[in-house]
Amino acid sequence: MERKVFRLHAHCLPVRGARRSTVCDLQRRDWYPVPNGLHEILTRHRDLTREELHAEYGEGSVGVIDEYFAFLEGHELGWWTTEPERFPPLDLSWEVPARITNAIVDVGAHSAHDFPAIVAQLEELGCRALQLRVFEPRPLAEVDAMLAATDRSGLRAAEVLLPWDPSFDDETLFAFCGRHPRLLSVFVHGAPERRVASVPYQVVTVVYRTERIDSASHCGEVHPAYFLATLSAFTEAQAYNSCLNRKLSVDEHGEIRNCPALPKSYGNAADTPLHAALEHPEFRDLWAVTKDQVETCRDCEFRYVCTDCRAHVERPGDRLSKPAKCAYDPYTATWREAAPTAAPARPALPVVRVSPVTLPAPALEEEAVLVGAP
Ligand code: SF4
Repeated sequence: MERKVFRLHAHCLPVRGARRSTVCDLQRRDWYPVPNGLHEILTRHRDLTREELHAEYGEGSVGVIDEYFAFLEGHELGWWTTEPERFPPLDLSWEVPARITNAIVDVGAHSAHDFPAIVAQLEELGCRALQLRVFEPRPLAEVDAMLAATDRSGLRAAEVLLPWDPSFDDETLFAFCGRHPRLLSVFVHGAPERRVASVPYQVVTVVYRTERIDSASHCGEVHPAYFLATLSAFTEAQAYNSCLNRKLSVDEHGEIRNCPALPKSYGNAADTPLHAALEHPEFRDLWAVTKDQVETCRDCEFRYVCTDCRAHVERPGDRLSKPAKCAYDPYTATWREAAPTAAPARPALPVVRVSPVTLPAPALEEEAVLVGAP
């Protein structure tokens, strides 16, 4: 008789945490919390048939196991097959033909960046996404002039953070978006209300937030809304730092840094070419710090979809300390009350839809039985 075993789709990857696991659907950009017992079934016991699993875990677990598979099939995360050998796993290596993939340029009250020169250098480095963060009010025409450098550039995406101005309304900002073809989103900080407006007939969104972002210190918030479940983000996070790898920043004073919130500068963009700063060996010092190395994160089921932060950590000076602005405890699978105050740390990437679906987890004792089964 043919043996039928369950396989997750190649783009659906289970990640084990201390208290629970996730299945990350990298095609639909979604993730589902699941009990660790299900992770065990999908990994250690992936070659057992349903009947063999029932026997493995005992009579009392039959209903739970069937519920697990109903959940997985219901969410189209996998299927039963008699030919598992025909479905090889996904290649999880991460490579991009670029020295820099994303950049941040901060603009303060006295910034005088040469935007055409900065954007041209970023293009040469292969940069694909730029986040422009304007901290203090500037006439919109000035921001237009800054962003104009991207309009016909090789950059593929731009994101702008703007301080609220009473003259802003949807019509004005929609017109602003229409003038800049690389623009994917505009975050208006310090706005009177929180809301999101979609530019008609475009993929661009204008996000209004009441929090004020007036310096680089606002970065580093960790929140499910910022999780990014894509193949690129997931595989990069396994091999490199999910925030700092291939990132370059020009702070509001022109100082070139890996991240604007990190202390070390590698020269000023006014007289230092970006590629020269990048060649400094210490510039890439934190690129290889993965979530698998970071304290607490290494036990977290979100570690490959979560954006790291090395600038704001629980123990300053400890390069493997947990991000200070994370309110998640993977040992209890609970979030402390915390309100995110910043826009996503990654530039120009769509906000991930957060799955409201939670697998009806078995009681703690049941889960312990499943995980501890021989
Ligand atoms: S514990 Fe680490 S990986 Fe988990 S959500 Fe917090 S920062 Fe992200």
